[in-house]
Amino acid sequence: MIYLDYQATTPLAPEVREAMLPYLGDRFGNPHSPHRMGREAAAAVEVAREQVAALLPAHGRVAFTGSATEALNWAIKGSRGAIVTLATEHAAVLDSVRAIERAGREVHILPVGVDGLVDLDVARAAIRPGIGLVAAMLVNNEIGVIQPIEQLAEIAHRAGALFLCDAVQGYGRVPIADNVDLVALSAHKIHGPKGIGALWLRDGTAVEPLLHGGGQEAPGRSGTLAPMLCVGFGVAAALMDERREDDAAHLDRLWRTATHRLGPEWTINGSFAHRYHGNLNLRSDGVDAARLISGLRELAFSAGSACASGSGRPSHVLKAIGLSDAEARSSIRIGFGRYTSEEDIERATTMIFEATEKQLMWAV
Ligand code: PLP
Repeated sequence: MIYLDYQATTPLAPEVREAMLPYLGDRFGNPHSPHRMGREAAAAVEVAREQVAALLPAHGRVAFTGSATEALNWAIKGSRGAIVTLATEHAAVLDSVRAIERAGREVHILPVGVDGLVDLDVARAAIRPGIGLVAAMLVNNEIGVIQPIEQLAEIAHRAGALFLCDAVQGYGRVPIADNVDLVALSAHKIHGPKGIGALWLRDGTAVEPLLHGGGQEAPGRSGTLAPMLCVGFGVAAALMDERREDDAAHLDRLWRTATHRLGPEWTINGSFAHRYHGNLNLRSDGVDAARLISGLRELAFSAGSACASGSGRPSHVLKAIGLSDAEARSSIRIGFGRYTSEEDIERATTMIFEATEKQLMWAV
């Protein structure tokens, strides 16, 4: 199987797995217990917290959560005032803002251009005094485009609003602007374990608790932490930092090979210039992406976000950049990274190319 679905999840790094294993054995202590075993587990959690924080702006605190979805729900539901966000955000943001809208808070969802980017003049017009929170994604999970986070955060601050960045796909890969107030992260997108995320809060930024209880993960997140998952997240973050240049150079080689081999029959969805190179979202007229994916059983790739796949609905992100239903249904997403080889890309692109030819031939 050739795995090309890095936006859905990434393979666990062997170093991460090794670091986690002792916590399935002798090191099972509760990090909130006062005895030595508890204190050792707590110390491991604190090391992990520092490792995750090292890739984020100074002067803030990492609070571990069960997922980025939880972190985004916490930031959105725990903030005050009206909310501005973008039409291409993840369901964890869009569904959360719809929920608070039903509860009476004002919500504004801004459109994006064909390049997938928000127009800053449109953002300036919408982000007015009275807005409490602006939420925007760093790297889009479906089309890979990079939003102008620093400028959006500046506009938010000028209006007196907080700025929340969903950095799930960009963390450790694309610089995170220094002026953000809240950042949501997920370990399984950086070769860490599933079941753990984090909300980073700038010092002095307060959000109401989402989960009430023992208050273990101050400020405002209750529930016993899993040291194994925290340690895995920490080691994964440290590896992202250590391998940043090697990973980026490897990715650029894969990107060049993939774009070259797929050729002019495929059009890239979203901005070509403002994009993360581990995400290739493309369309080819007349192709049935769902059939292509189910037919190529030795390839793991997708037509969009893992959360939306299977719903049968065309992707809200592809619709937001102006694609017709037919164009959206002819779009595929190829995601690659650290453990993808050039040979994987060569074989996969050949398989996609041949299957597409066959599909189009039968369609005539
Ligand atoms: N935000 C983005 C951009 C994502 O890609 C994802 C995962 O697909 C999430 C949020 C949710 O992350 P998690 O799986 O940790 O809930």
